[in-house]
Amino acid sequence: AVQDPSVEAAELERTFIAIKPDGVQRGLISEIISRFERKGYKLVAVKLVVPTKEFAMQHYDDLKGRPFFNGLCDFLSSGPVLAMVWEGQGVIKYGRKLIGATAPQNSEPGTIRGDLAISVGRNIIHGSDGPETAVAEIALWFKPEELLSYSKVTDKWLYE
Ligand code: UDP
Ligand code: MG
Repeated sequence: AVQDPSVEAAELERTFIAIKPDGVQRGLISEIISRFERKGYKLVAVKLVVPTKEFAMQHYDDLKGRPFFNGLCDFLSSGPVLAMVWEGQGVIKYGRKLIGATAPQNSEPGTIRGDLAISVGRNIIHGSDGPETAVAEIALWFKPEELLSYSKVTDKWLYE
């Protein structure tokens, strides 16, 4: 148990982050994980999976009807994806900042896509875009028992 209730409250926010097949193939797993880890976020679930096309279509359900939808789902299901849940204060919104704009040509230097990707269809990483999406995506990709709650000695050095 964590002593300080503000630390406990800060831990509650969780987001779904996935390294897409291009990021895995390009050897960027450790680079991407380290950016979330060094920021202070806590990894609470992780697995390497090859999603089926049907699963990819469910994940990107809000984009069905867009011209790139089919190719996007083919691509997401084309190889191993590193699925993760990260926890921490503001992690949903700030996780998106770490990731950068959808099109890497518009992503700022210093962001994951800005530093490490070139084209929109190969932008290496996914992150939930809001609280409702985060809940839905975590539930889609992980069973409740795969999500861990634990304290770290650094928690009290990250939150006042
Ligand atoms: N995408 C694409 N072409 C587009 C827009 C999006 O290939 O014109 C892909 C891109 O890989 C993006 C994913 O579809 O990451 C999901 O799109 P979304 O708008 O949700 O962007 P994200 O939330 O990933 O930044
Ligand atoms: Mg999105």
